[in-house]
Amino acid sequence: MTTQLLETSQLATLDARSISAWFGDHKVLDRVSLTMPAGQVTALIGPSGCGKSTFLRILNRMHELVPSASLAGEVLLDDMDLYDESRRITDARRQIGMVFQRPNPFPSMSIYDNVVAGLKLIGLRASRTEKDALVESCLTKAGLWKEVRDRLRQPGGGLSGGQQQRLCIARSLAVQPRVLLMDEPCSALDPTSTRRIEETITELGSEVTIVIVTHNMQQAARVSDQCAFFLAEAGTPGVIVEHGTTAEMFENPVDPRTHDYVHGRF
Ligand code: ADP
Ligand code: MG
Repeated sequence: MTTQLLETSQLATLDARSISAWFGDHKVLDRVSLTMPAGQVTALIGPSGCGKSTFLRILNRMHELVPSASLAGEVLLDDMDLYDESRRITDARRQIGMVFQRPNPFPSMSIYDNVVAGLKLIGLRASRTEKDALVESCLTKAGLWKEVRDRLRQPGGGLSGGQQQRLCIARSLAVQPRVLLMDEPCSALDPTSTRRIEETITELGSEVTIVIVTHNMQQAARVSDQCAFFLAEAGTPGVIVEHGTTAEMFENPVDPRTHDYVHGRF
């Protein structure tokens, strides 16, 4: 247990194959396929309402929490089929962490307890010494350790917005996920906090596979290795128009709609 907790988890590739999704009769994604390579940062870009958040939630089975939701297709984490009926939903959640737009630490829980909260949820027990080491390691990776090391017993809700988001990243990392999903993690933050989170994403990018939804094209250009451009035109379900390396998508996209979108023309 001791060594397990601090080991870096093995990198994994996430592969979505022909994903279609519905809310009731409303089809919101149509046969979306995307490989999110191990140890890379993939940015999902595109206008509001084209299904980016839905796609992200499908990647860790969060989609299933909406009663009207259904889907077709497959999600593979290396060789593991996340939607295999014999697999428990917690298996997927343990390996694929998620950070949301609004920082959501448990506000009255201490900073320390926020970081280790996930362990209990997935049934891992750890000694005090193990937890101390884990808290330091995760807060360091999230770029927050130096700021909070002297106040680990204070409530998470007392931190600034940017610090709270970094606490949420630390909390996700505590269960050693192989993938980190981030849904517009900076859109509620000021520019300085945004840059700090971007630095963290860049540093984490080599140890965890990261998928980030962002509306901010400069951010996509700064942090991602590859981009996928989602679009839902005139009431049709969302599709990926184009995906490729970030350099290709910004400098030499194939589709004129990608060009217009990444250069802020719609
Ligand atoms: P994006 O993140 O790109 O803005 P979303 O995935 O949030 O797009 O939404 C895609 C479509 O799915 C939209 O038409 C939205 O209204 C619909 N949708 C999203 N969540 C739900 C839900 N819980 N119930 C019903 N419709 C939803
Ligand atoms: Mg969204």
